[in-house]
Amino acid sequence: MTDVAKRKSVAPAPLDWEYAPAPEARDIVRFDDRYGLFVGGKHVEPKSGEWFATTSPATEEQLAEVALAGAEDVDLAVGAAREAYEDGWSGLRPAERAKYLFRIARILQERSRELAVAESLDGGKPIKESRDVDLPLAAAHFFYYAGWADKLEYAFPHRAPRPLGVAGQIIPWNFPLLMLAWKIAPALAAGNTVVLKPAETTPLTALLFTDVCRQAELPPGVVNIVTGDGSTGAHLVKHPGVDKIAFTGSTEVGKAIQRELAGTGTRLTLELGGKAANIVFDDCALDQAIEGIVNGIYFNQGHVCCAGSRLLVQESIYEPLVAKLKRRLTTLRVGDPLDKNTDVGAINSQAQLERIRELVASGEEEGAEIYQPPCRLPEKGYWFAPTVFTNVAQSYRIAQEEIFGPVLSVLTFRTPEEAVEKANNTAYGLSAGVWTEKGSRILWMTARLRAGVVWANTFNRFDPTSPFGGYKESGFGREGGRHGLEAYLAFD
Ligand code: NDP
Repeated sequence: MTDVAKRKSVAPAPLDWEYAPAPEARDIVRFDDRYGLFVGGKHVEPKSGEWFATTSPATEEQLAEVALAGAEDVDLAVGAAREAYEDGWSGLRPAERAKYLFRIARILQERSRELAVAESLDGGKPIKESRDVDLPLAAAHFFYYAGWADKLEYAFPHRAPRPLGVAGQIIPWNFPLLMLAWKIAPALAAGNTVVLKPAETTPLTALLFTDVCRQAELPPGVVNIVTGDGSTGAHLVKHPGVDKIAFTGSTEVGKAIQRELAGTGTRLTLELGGKAANIVFDDCALDQAIEGIVNGIYFNQGHVCCAGSRLLVQESIYEPLVAKLKRRLTTLRVGDPLDKNTDVGAINSQAQLERIRELVASGEEEGAEIYQPPCRLPEKGYWFAPTVFTNVAQSYRIAQEEIFGPVLSVLTFRTPEEAVEKANNTAYGLSAGVWTEKGSRILWMTARLRAGVVWANTFNRFDPTSPFGGYKESGFGREGGRHGLEAYLAFD
């Protein structure tokens, strides 16, 4: 162990005691040495002949080898999805479709411990998050959309909803199984079949999900999983047999996909990045707000598109708030994702760690003041200490760009008008938070904040019934709720 965290400003003393280790059992999950592609209900070797390793970001150990799908593989998967769509799934009685979705939801619950461990191993997130957030929410999405499958006429009265066909779905590495559920559950409920590409660094829970599909006796070809890198995603986007692309990831790749699909008639939804303002007024419940700030930016190492990465504090409470926040940071436990006491796990990949380091260095160069609590980071793996920047100007890169790491930029405001102006001063528009005791002020703020989701006196709350999505460079289209179904339906 090395002491890598820096202290560049006066900090309160850290706690001088440690929790005893509380490791989750790792042997509940067994990975195969190698995983092929899941096409037409079978695991097949890639025609590309290419494979890549997926590793644990906490230990750098190889967990498995995974197929890298090329153009021919994507073509086969789209063909299998088309066949399944035409030969049964789209014509199946809606209540039958619901039956499969309910089964998947129940199996996810039954296997949740195993899948949570797999998620934390492959992605680096703390087990208490994969266990208490990712898995329950993934199952909840399947339960929720199972309920809609035979009620589409009620969801969209007099509009004659019908499925689109084959959906191509590309997901990122921050919530691998949860993003899979957000994509697959509504698509299947609406009567589509899917080809899903997981992110390169986190393919394992999607591959374990193929076993969930088998257990649920889902007809072959309804769900196809093609692992690979960005080129695999690009093949899927370009494939003429795909009727809809649903993408979650970076704004840069989202823009490239939109350019690629312009004029083709392929339906598209994009859920991209964010730079959310978490706005704290002087009349808020301060201790509650501190918890919301911490949850908003350090949850999942800050690898969250809707993370509250810009903290806007009313000037009159700036000093006590920052002092409390720094004190709270000293209690965060950074380390082994499989330890049940861990609050902040491993950074998902070396590439992401480099990106965080680069942006943090830019913050220091531009003149912001950095604070990191004293904490010991493991020698192996990819780690970054929870970080707060004060003295941040709106023009700094750390106030403008998505860092996608455990890094908070603190700015101040005096009036609600100024808070709104600063909050909206971003290319993004995914989420925001407001902390105040006044209901009228919450309503005043939400009407003016240009963000798809605004949380009031809480942050990072999700529910499958609630639509989620952005404005501006955060993308378009909504996932979750009835809105999420609409994205997978055509209407007369
Ligand atoms: P990407 O946008 O590259 O990755 C998202 C998904 O798209 C992955 O499955 C990726 O595959 C795939 N992909 C990559 N290139 C293409 C392409 N040309 N056509 C189709 N699909 C493609 O995000 P990164 O992983 O590179 O992360 C970079 C930054 O993006 C982060 O630092 C963060 O700021 C932001 N980000 C935002 C997310 C969000 O939820 N809003 C999620 C992830 C990242 P593969 O993984 O195999 O490369």
